Amino acid sequence: MKNPVNFRNKKILVIGAHPDDNDFGAAATMALAAKLGAKIFYVIATKGQRGSNDKKMTGEKLAKIREQEQRKAAKILEIKEVIFLDYNDGELEVNLKLKEDLVMFLRKYRPDYVFTMDPSRFYYKRADFGFINHSDHRAIGEATLDACYPLARDAVSFSEHAKIGLKPHKVKEIFLFSFMPEEANCFIDVTKTLDLKIKALAAHQSQFGGSKTTREWVKSWAMELGKKNGFKYAEAFVRLKLR
Ligand SMILES: [Zn+2]
Repeated sequence: MKNPVNFRNKKILVIGAHPDDNDFGAAATMALAAKLGAKIFYVIATKGQRGSNDKKMTGEKLAKIREQEQRKAAKILEIKEVIFLDYNDGELEVNLKLKEDLVMFLRKYRPDYVFTMDPSRFYYKRADFGFINHSDHRAIGEATLDACYPLARDAVSFSEHAKIGLKPHKVKEIFLFSFMPEEANCFIDVTKTLDLKIKALAAHQSQFGGSKTTREWVKSWAMELGKKNGFKYAEAFVRLKLR
């Protein structure tokens, strides 16, 4: 089976809440798209200041570390630019300010495709494990969807943007990171770039430490996602084609 998405020379905006979210959800797909000439931009709402259990670590210190880790990971994947917004980790809310920030990036970078987190996933239960989707993940996903449609598209929304040269922009397709094969409707063959994803995740040393378990886990998860489609390794998405 062929990859269902044409990445050649496309412009892609990937929007996440914390450093590592975008890499976790789509690093292998981004590495593949970059090799096909896509220009990829990351927007990350917080610097992940709270992602540590170390009592000696301060939020400020951790923010610096995580920013550097994300920049290192982005280099591995050939991401063109990484932009950090100034929101606090753990406090992200779906409000007009966040939506306007995202609309500005959509109007500035004018992406063909937007990748982000799935806001409909509140919690997940399976017989063997359960989890709650972080509130920042839900918030960034919801704000991004609203920013794409209808806010960035309509000239009447944030009409003052015209004064700084930002024109309305219509996003053609949105892809939500999906970790559940039964929910996804788009599987990307990342057999050739999964190693780059593992390398990029290892660059987030403060979160994963490049441990062998992460490596094994990322592989087995990509294998499970690939199984249905005859790919060795896959990443999965909920794909929304907007008219
Ligand atoms: Zn996160």
